[in-house]
Amino acid sequence: MEPLLSRLRPRKEQGTYALSLVYGKTVYHYLISQDKAGKFCIPEGTKFDTLWQLVEYLKLKADGLIYRLKEACPNSSASAEAAAPTLPAHPSTFTQPQRRVDTLNSDGYTPEPARVASPDKQRPMPMDTSVYESPYSDPEELKDKKLFLKRENLLVADIELGCGNFGSVRQGVYRMRKKQIDVAIKVLKHGTEKADKDEMMREAQIMHQLDNPYIVRLIGVCQAEALMLVMEMAGGGPLHKFLIGKKEEIPVSNVAELLHQVAMGMKYLEEKNFVHRDLAARNVLLVNRHYAKISDFGLSKALGADDSYYTARSAGKWPLKWYAPECINFRKFSSRSDVWSYGVTMWEAFSYGQKPYKKMKGPEVLDFIKQGKRMECPPECPPEMYSLMSDCWTYKWEDRPDFLTVEQRMRNYYYSLASRAEGSPQCGQVAEAACG
Ligand code: AMP
Repeated sequence: MEPLLSRLRPRKEQGTYALSLVYGKTVYHYLISQDKAGKFCIPEGTKFDTLWQLVEYLKLKADGLIYRLKEACPNSSASAEAAAPTLPAHPSTFTQPQRRVDTLNSDGYTPEPARVASPDKQRPMPMDTSVYESPYSDPEELKDKKLFLKRENLLVADIELGCGNFGSVRQGVYRMRKKQIDVAIKVLKHGTEKADKDEMMREAQIMHQLDNPYIVRLIGVCQAEALMLVMEMAGGGPLHKFLIGKKEEIPVSNVAELLHQVAMGMKYLEEKNFVHRDLAARNVLLVNRHYAKISDFGLSKALGADDSYYTARSAGKWPLKWYAPECINFRKFSSRSDVWSYGVTMWEAFSYGQKPYKKMKGPEVLDFIKQGKRMECPPECPPEMYSLMSDCWTYKWEDRPDFLTVEQRMRNYYYSLASRAEGSPQCGQVAEAACG
């Protein structure tokens, strides 16, 4: 049983509001009051500077209510309560954020008929989601585009989406001129060194220069109670976790579709002369089961116009199992070393979330590679895809394919599956979607 309607109205007593919530057949009323500092809260609840922030928070978390807020009450509701006017047009009104068509179901994916690459009409396409285009593609919104965001437009919920080196990544909402968008907020943990702050700012500077449907976009940075990196939301979680135990449910065509999108994102990076340096299935986040985005630019570098590689001054905490030999031997990173990592990411995906190189330690992997050995073809992996990942693991970087080639081969393979699937008119749709 979920609450259908909720409504917020000002009360006679200055600065207080009544929040009514219909849950089942019962109407629940809550008092929203302001403390001496002017902060808003429901009794015993979390305090916020603005009503907008409180309402957005209560949409994400019940925080003492019988249930979290869902739909705003239309003025013409059958409920007797609805006769009262709703709150005037203020950011704090119950405008629902753009309806999310881009998240997975609670069980982690939207069921699809088992037919290979023949999607049903309901299947979400990347361009149907709210994160395909930049939130700043609207010229009106573009006027406000700045690296630093105002704290008052940001709501940070204490809902953790994950955690990384810097601290936790929280769910939130960012208010723009004409819309509100769901965001993921990387919050720098307290007591961190200046070096960590600088590192996080470097990550922000890199992400700020990128705009592609298959890359998590940075909305901006907010310096307030902590340094926060505000990003587009890709709420489906990392690719490897999503695929674990789903051999029966997720067809190979779906895996190829997601990997093709990763290849498109990487081709874009290659064109812009950026190296990612941490491409792995854990850093491919899903918007939904048919839409992937590359994330985590913490190690990434922009190459100089005339440079084709970056040389690290010293080795660091590196993901050795994903690194090409020249990265480990000479600390040399290029788009071709990202191609090697792409091969490992392909292996992770086609093995449905297995860990690469089993129980081997990083340095043992290098010996294994030097001996000319490579990981075996995962049981479900089509030969064409194993052939491509093997080419990504070409020892000499000069002989490895670039992302232009990798993307083309992924596309050809994915389209070939689509055209094999019963020649339905929707196959064309698959191809178009994959092209981006
Ligand atoms: P990171 O610090 O970038 O490695 O992120 C750690 C975890 O936070 C990821 O594995 C995700 O579960 C989550 N996360 C990071 N960025 C996002 C995002 N843009 N959308 C949703 N979840 C995210």
